[in-house]
Amino acid sequence: MKQIYCERCSDEIKSRSDLVTSFKFFMISAYHTDCFAKELKDFGGLILSATPINSISTTIILAIATIALWILSAVSRIWYIAVVALIFPLLRLSSWFIYERRVN
Ligand SMILES: [Zn+2]
Repeated sequence: MKQIYCERCSDEIKSRSDLVTSFKFFMISAYHTDCFAKELKDFGGLILSATPINSISTTIILAIATIALWILSAVSRIWYIAVVALIFPLLRLSSWFIYERRVN
């Protein structure tokens, strides 16, 4: 199994509870929980999204946003809204596939 290294300190991330994934320069990046807080303190929301992708609250918000956009798409009959809404579950799945499934 391939190891995951923190973007800030370059140490290995060994447990899922210590893993935070976030958007940085339109890519998903992995951090230790402490390193994510330090990175946010240094750069704020300028280049790093302040919301971790792999949190339960983000998963719930993304699911609600996806369902709401699908309903909007069905009601308004604008099909591309449903396609755009697929970005949210794909983002969450990418975080899981790239990082979360590789740590315990
Ligand atoms: Zn770190």
